[in-house]
Amino acid sequence: VRTDVIPRNTRQRTVILETVRTLGNHPSADEVFEAVRHKLPRVSLSTVYRNLEFLANSGLIRKLEMGGLPVRFDSTVSPHFHIRCISCNRIDDLRGRRVVVVEDARDFDHDYEVLGYQVEFIGLCSNCRAESSPHHEPSAC
Ligand SMILES: [Zn+2]
Ligand SMILES: [Zn+2]
Repeated sequence: VRTDVIPRNTRQRTVILETVRTLGNHPSADEVFEAVRHKLPRVSLSTVYRNLEFLANSGLIRKLEMGGLPVRFDSTVSPHFHIRCISCNRIDDLRGRRVVVVEDARDFDHDYEVLGYQVEFIGLCSNCRAESSPHHEPSAC
């Protein structure tokens, strides 16, 4: 297959999708942009952003809006929860046993049509815990 017959927009989108998948761990648009520039030297941040929005709207990736941070993107689209480090803002998937924390919204008194919910776990990642540990503090002298 000759790549030059594939429309440029489609090729850009494919490269951006592959980059989100390769980067893993919930990259921001800036991080995707930095990684994608090697393959698409003339691409702009706004083009990358527009493509990420398109891919999210198509359900190929997930858009994560957490803790007022810049939007992150997730190549894992199946339902899963996240945990965010409050110190470095790293975001990881919560793996293992299914976590059930959400009460059934129908049990509450409200006048909303419920469309979904967001759950964000917060904590300190192992790197940040190591840094704040007294054993690693530089000595005063
Ligand atoms: Zn951290
Ligand atoms: Zn995730």
